[in-house]
Formats: sequence, structure tokens, C-alpha cells
Amino acid sequence: MIQDVQKIAQALIQSRYPVALTGAGISTESGVPDFRGQAGLWQDEDAVDLLSLTTLYGDPQRFYSKGLSLLQVFRGKSPNAAHRALAWLEELGLIRCVITQNIDGLHQAAGSQNVLEIHGNLRTSSCVICHAVFPFEFVEKAASEGQIPPKCPKCGGTVRPDVVFFGDDMTPDFGRAVEECSRADFMLIVGSSLQVAPAAYLPGMVPRIAIINLDETPYDESAEVVIHAKAGTVLPEVVRLVEEDPALKRWER
Ligand code: NAD
Repeated sequence: MIQDVQKIAQALIQSRYPVALTGAGISTESGVPDFRGQAGLWQDEDAVDLLSLTTLYGDPQRFYSKGLSLLQVFRGKSPNAAHRALAWLEELGLIRCVITQNIDGLHQAAGSQNVLEIHGNLRTSSCVICHAVFPFEFVEKAASEGQIPPKCPKCGGTVRPDVVFFGDDMTPDFGRAVEECSRADFMLIVGSSLQVAPAAYLPGMVPRIAIINLDETPYDESAEVVIHAKAGTVLPEVVRLVEEDPALKRWER
């Protein structure tokens, strides 16, 4: 495995515009379950149905009694060694941005600055009519007080979590992610099954990709490096190798 880790370190150092794409797998070592991994939430078909627009708007009582509590598993966790390694690679100038499918906020908690949250976040909620933004806690409080769906105090519209549910449009960050991918010459993919569209199309925009993921992905054959191991083990090794590399010291990015 060490040779493959070395290849990733070299690719990061030699690339002109390296970016990262992360998925739920980078957060499993923080205690957040993924969807399609071995102990994933996908095993529970209900999770997909609960976290859908059909339930949010069609059966808000069910969404706010069950779906909202499902979102709680993504909150209040701490970043792990893999999140911290990506933040440090950005600090070194070896990652331009982290495009994440995650909603748990752990990249920012680890210190990453340029994070594109293409599936939204759990920090805010907003009104679907006037687009006023509230803390996420606004919808929790309204629901706990029996106001379902939560109502905007400004215009009376429905306030909903700023998370991309099944059937939703992507966030504006997705457009920015497409721009970043069109500039990128290397993408490091970490902890994603690469099965959720349209995020799964992004690796196809970048000429060179490397994958760190426990299970196989549809892009394994086109990747120049594939490591089936834990992100929290591999990424700190990538950091160790780039820091040892004399080329990095010479460049002084
Ligand atoms: P996924 O669940 O489809 O796939 C996760 C992949 O990560 C799996 O292939 C698994 O083998 C791998 N994995 C698990 N633990 C790993 C580890 N320690 N190291 C390396 N790889 C590991 O995830 P996805 O591709 O991101 O798609 C899931 C969708 O669900 C996303 O859209 C995301 O928004 C959402 N989701 C988010 C979170 C979160 O915010 N943490 C958690 C679950 C689901």
C-alpha cells in the first residue's frame, strides 16, 4: 500500500490544481454512519423515504417526527484524522478545495477553509418563499412546539432544513464545484461510493483521479491509484510523505 500512498503524495505535489471530493465514508471514523457502507443507513430503506421531498412536503408530520431525528445522527460529532489531514493539505497548498457530499460540517470543524457543500448543511434552515435564513435549531424548536411545518416569522412561508433531500435541486455550491472540477487536473476522492448523481459525474470531469475508499466504486478502473483502506489511516500517511518530500520544501507554496 505504501507505494500507492506515495503515488498520491506525488500527484498532489506535481498537480497544478488538485481538488478533493469526499463522501460519507470520511466521517464513519467520527461515528457518523454512511449510506452504502457495511453498516450504512441504506440498510434501512425507510431512511431514503424519510429524507425525501415527498415526505418533507407530502407528509410533514412524519418528516418532523422521524426524519428530523434521523438527521441528528450527523450532528455533534468531532472531526477525525482524515478530516484533519485534508485541512492540512489545503494549508500546504496541495488541495485547492474540498467538494463534499456530507452535511455534517466536519471539514470546517477540522480547519478546511474552501469547502463546497453540494448537499447542503445542518447549520441553517430557510424559508422556501422569502428565503430568509434561520439557524437549524429554528425548525427543531418549531417542530417540538407542534408547529409543523415550521412557519417563517417574516412571511408565513414554510421553513425547511438547508439539506438536499432526495428529489431536491442541488445547492449553488454544486455549480461552483463544477467550475472547480473544470479547472482541476487531479482529484483525490475519499469515502464515497460514487453512486449518488449528480455528484458521481464530477470525477469524470477531471483528467487524473485517485480513490481512497473501503469498497469498490464505479471509477476504480479509470483511477490511477485505488486504495481500499480506511481514510483515517491512509490520509495521515499522505501528509507524512508530502511533508518529507524535498520538492514541497523547495516550492514554498
Ligand atoms: P455512501 O454511503 O454511498 O458511500 C460511502 C463509502 O465510504 C462506501 O463505499 C464505504 O466503503 C466507504 N467508507 C466507509 N467508511 C470508510 C472509511 N473509514 N474510509 C474509507 N472509506 C470508507 O456515501 P456517499 O457516496 O457520500 O453518498 C451518500 C449520500 O448520503 C451523500 O449524498 C451524503 O450527502 C449523504 N450522507 C452524508 C453523511 C454525512 O454527512 N456524514 C452520512 C451519510 C450519508
